[in-house]
Amino acid sequence: MLLRHTPTEIADRSALTINPAKTCQPIGAMYAALGVHGCLPHSHGSQGCCAYHRSTLTRHYKEPISAGTSSFTEGASVFGGQANLLQAINNIFTVYEPEVIAVHTTCLSETIGDDLPQITDKARKQGSIPDGKDVIYANTPSYVGSHVTGFANMVKGMAQVAAPTGVKNGKVNVIPGWVEPADMEEIKRLAALAGVEIILFPDTSGVLNGPMSGHYHMYPEGGVTMDELRSTGDSIGTLALGEWCSADAARYLDSTHKVPCRVLDMPFGLQATDRFVDALRTLAGRSVPDEITNERGQLVDMISDMHQYFYQKKVALVGDPDQLIAMTEFLVSLDMWPVHVVTGTPGKKFEERIRELTADLPYEVNVKAGSESDMFLLHQWIKNGSVDLIMGNTYCKYIARDEDIPYVRWGFPILDRVGHQYFPTVGYKGGLRLLEKILNVLLDRTDRDAPEQSFELVL
Ligand code: SF4
Repeated sequence: MLLRHTPTEIADRSALTINPAKTCQPIGAMYAALGVHGCLPHSHGSQGCCAYHRSTLTRHYKEPISAGTSSFTEGASVFGGQANLLQAINNIFTVYEPEVIAVHTTCLSETIGDDLPQITDKARKQGSIPDGKDVIYANTPSYVGSHVTGFANMVKGMAQVAAPTGVKNGKVNVIPGWVEPADMEEIKRLAALAGVEIILFPDTSGVLNGPMSGHYHMYPEGGVTMDELRSTGDSIGTLALGEWCSADAARYLDSTHKVPCRVLDMPFGLQATDRFVDALRTLAGRSVPDEITNERGQLVDMISDMHQYFYQKKVALVGDPDQLIAMTEFLVSLDMWPVHVVTGTPGKKFEERIRELTADLPYEVNVKAGSESDMFLLHQWIKNGSVDLIMGNTYCKYIARDEDIPYVRWGFPILDRVGHQYFPTVGYKGGLRLLEKILNVLLDRTDRDAPEQSFELVL
């Protein structure tokens, strides 16, 4: 009973977060940066921040995460960190030889107000950035937003690299949002099956789920290249998967370089994947191949075969807005009932979308976004209205144990299990995996609680 002090009675809070349902901006910026080929992320702040960001990503992806830090001490904290960053850029290109450095700020350097474009410009004029190499950057003050905001800011930093030539490249930009490396691989596989050439950015597949080859590569083979990023301004369109993670970058390309964009939900579940496949096909003027139609049919088959186990099961969800919106739609389509939905990332539109998606259910869903929307509140909601299933990150395990509720790990971070790097949950194949995970925990619970006379071998 680790959370035995969580009271059932819910009190109004305005300046207190307990067990946040989010983490800090630079973690998102660092994850996004790892999706650029040959990139070394750089944390412009203290060593402590950088160590925390790296260790969180290492624990989730089970891969060593390399990143530089401006190593702020008292002097930089008071007078600004320009000298530290100039020195860092020089050292990193000299010693570690990346293709690109992706600098993000931290609370400390944001409070001082360090000007990244000006410092980067100065580094270039001083000759610290070798010819053919780049520095991209994003402002990621962690006292606003969340890891999702930091991710989106760095992705917009990537879009700002675009340098149109005036000749269209015939490709579609796809901005996948914060999904697993396996999900990025799956998006590329679907696009290839559909015969659509895409530029996926960021792309952490082959970076954070690469093979053990016996040889150390500081910069693995995966990741979108800087040339591809420059070419995004010549693409025929952009599909941004998720309003929170991807829309800013897509709208930047649209407004600055006239690359038309569509903002879609992340392709979790049947309908969201349908919309993604349809948008891909429409943009590129292709028809949907049989392979994809068959995969869709398999997902529909499992949904109809197993419908009785999903029917009217109540679910508590915690995670990031783009993922939660798509998952809520998927669960409702299975006749499951999302009853509590929590994200620590702010955004009024989130609550509106969840209410729209659950409008036909016979109750009003509990939904909240922002810093007071935390795991503590989720636990209290569950105490007041029990559920059959919890879906969310690793921290849900405490609630699941205390309340004895089946639990599916999904989202970020997952610190105590593996598999999320390798098995996609997007697309039709990913939908099958999600169903398998949900069914397994529900049926395991049925088996555990079944009396002898109804302990069944066959479903
Ligand atoms: S919240 Fe701010 S101070 Fe804390 S680790 Fe993140 S960037 Fe550093």
